[in-house]
Amino acid sequence: MFTTYVLVIEKTSSSRIRMRKQTIFMEKGVYLYVGSAKRGLEKRLARHVKKRKNRFWHIDYITSRRDTTVQAIYLSPCPECETLSAVSALGTLFGRRLGSSDCRCQSHFVKLNQVSLDDLRNWMTQNGFVEFPIPSP
Ligand SMILES: [Zn+2]
Repeated sequence: MFTTYVLVIEKTSSSRIRMRKQTIFMEKGVYLYVGSAKRGLEKRLARHVKKRKNRFWHIDYITSRRDTTVQAIYLSPCPECETLSAVSALGTLFGRRLGSSDCRCQSHFVKLNQVSLDDLRNWMTQNGFVEFPIPSP
């Protein structure tokens, strides 16, 4: 049973994003977000894809925007923070205390280096991740 997932989020413009406790600057590009849901994984993933929702987690402030799209979802065989550390090889950690309120990681977001979504898919599947079909919003 999978409980950890990785969202591949494309942001098509650079902008500031105001959240409850901090404002971040997010450049356009592709980002990975690592999260987990001990129950209701599919429901959680559907929520991430929806634009209209109450903004509760940091990720909600990002995925509710019009300039972001969830391009792919992967399920991870490893726990959340281990997964973060694995995928951080693909880019640089983005933000501080962003998506990582419950652990000691700097952030649960990674800004991807220049890599195509196909190359990313190859890397993910070679490393034991399983692609999950994007729920319709
Ligand atoms: Zn963590």
